[in-house]
Amino acid sequence: MKDENCIFCKIANGEIPSRTLYEDEDFRVIMDLAPATKGHSLILPKQHYKNLYEIADDTAAKVLPLAKKMANLMTEKLGCDGFNIIQNTNEVAGQTVFHFHMHLIPRYDSDGQNLTMKAHETPAEELDAIKQQIIK
Ligand code: AMP
Ligand code: ZN
Repeated sequence: MKDENCIFCKIANGEIPSRTLYEDEDFRVIMDLAPATKGHSLILPKQHYKNLYEIADDTAAKVLPLAKKMANLMTEKLGCDGFNIIQNTNEVAGQTVFHFHMHLIPRYDSDGQNLTMKAHETPAEELDAIKQQIIK
């Protein structure tokens, strides 16, 4: 399924040119136009899924092995020191393009990027209550 109004559908299926690093029947991996670090890339499924809630399980199952393959390739070729992989679902989480994509962000010891989370000290009872809310 494709969405004719979706720019990532057009990029993933080759209708709009991109800096493609990898392609197979299910995915295209492209360089991000505004990279957070050197080599920042995006895994795009060729089918249109809006986000994590909607991606088909069989496609989702192929995303992490592909992320690993690309991380190994970029580590070898770019000499990065680590990786962040990020998937934003919905505006609240920072999603701006509503076609599922996984960010591949090579990290370098001195890249100056800050992708760390703000941690909240939380009482044990509150953690227990949240756990019950999720699994009950
Ligand atoms: P997100 O905020 O998770 O939806 O990420 C969207 C990402 O897509 C951002 O990092 C943008 O820089 C990137 N982006 C948007 N349009 C293009 C494009 N035409 N080609 C490559 N990257 C793009
Ligand atoms: Zn799309």
